Amino acid sequence: MAEIKSLAILGATGSIGSSTLDVVQRNPERYRVHALAAHRDVEGMTALCQRHHPELAAMASPEHAEQLRERLAHCCPHTEVLSGPESLNTLASLEAVDIVVAAIVGAAGMDSTLAAVQAGKRVLLANKESLVLAGELMMQQAMDHGACLIPVDSEHNAIFQCLPIDRQSGKPDTRRVAHITLTASGGPFRGWSREAIARATPDEACAHPNWSMGRKISVDSATLMNKGLELIEARWLFDLPPERLMVVVHPQSIIHSTVAFVDGSTLAQLGLPDMRTPIAAALAWPDRIPSGVDHLDLSRISQLDFEPPDTERFPCLQLAYDALKAGGTAAATLNAANEVAVQAFLDGGIGLLQIAEINQRVMQALPSLPANSLEDVRAADQRARQQAEKTLSELAHA
Ligand code: NAD
Ligand code: MG
Repeated sequence: MAEIKSLAILGATGSIGSSTLDVVQRNPERYRVHALAAHRDVEGMTALCQRHHPELAAMASPEHAEQLRERLAHCCPHTEVLSGPESLNTLASLEAVDIVVAAIVGAAGMDSTLAAVQAGKRVLLANKESLVLAGELMMQQAMDHGACLIPVDSEHNAIFQCLPIDRQSGKPDTRRVAHITLTASGGPFRGWSREAIARATPDEACAHPNWSMGRKISVDSATLMNKGLELIEARWLFDLPPERLMVVVHPQSIIHSTVAFVDGSTLAQLGLPDMRTPIAAALAWPDRIPSGVDHLDLSRISQLDFEPPDTERFPCLQLAYDALKAGGTAAATLNAANEVAVQAFLDGGIGLLQIAEINQRVMQALPSLPANSLEDVRAADQRARQQAEKTLSELAHA
């Protein structure tokens, strides 16, 4: 019987956090929750602690940590509560933890992902922004510290599952890969006119046709920025140049991505659109465990459709290719501008089409610089946030 593995789940109250805990509960003989972290959702964290009794819990601020402590005093007296961004790094590098689930949203997840990598953990990577910001540095650190970085993003997990394992390193081998193709659902506005997209509300943008996700990634899916961020994520995860990374729109989200090999073979991973499958595959890899997801019944899926992405109506995808071409800090700049723009859209301050406009203007205003260190990346992130705020106020007064 496999030994029990201990988990730290960073972003435990979110969509990926909940799906991970669902899979863990289905496999109690294999996994145990050691530590949980969240931002401000004290209610949600209280419920998770009551169910999973972690040794450690962390909230972003001392105030939220204190509220959680009060609530846990009677029901979970053994759960120690920490606070602050540094506590995420602590949880990510605990000796007692085998697997770290990096499921925080946005650049806020980068430092703890890096801490887990530097502690040589098995890292289940949902926080794609970590690789968008600092992919090259992160992959190098993973190699130096013997960390095993397994993608949870459904497309990258699909590719990971399709790749052969190199006998020597025990890692996926892309040497015989001609190219990979990320599938994109096209989001809720596929086929909508530009005028209709311009008037779309945050709730419409978050009503994804196939996947149930957090609000930030839902908006990214609606602008196709998500696919752009995933291109950058794939570039570093699989060490493939941009010209060997493709995107195809596949509205049913049944094929999660494909890998074309030099001999003309193409392998694909298929499944219902439910994140518990890639999470279970990443948790147990190279083994398999039940995830609670039903099997595909191909006889009931009448057809699978494919079409090229429309980069005119959805320019964010092209911006990601541009950032890859520019290299250096360009991807960090794009990511930061996008985080600010998406938040402004969710707050009702701008329309959906203005997200791409802000991203483009910030990239134009801030040419790429070398990204030799995390400091370079953090500085680019800060500059881009300021520039995006400036662009937002210019748009408001235009
Ligand atoms: P979400 O908004 O549902 O959850 C985010 C989680 O992060 C919450 O638990 C929140 O408390 C925590 N968090 C946010 N800011 C934090 C901070 N500063 N400090 C500590 N915790 C913080 O988001 P999600 O949809 O679960 O996405 C999480 C990540 O996974 C994102 O990077 C997203 O791109 C990626 N991802 C999500 C899906 C999906 O289906 N939801 C699929 C692929 C990839
Ligand atoms: Mg994805």
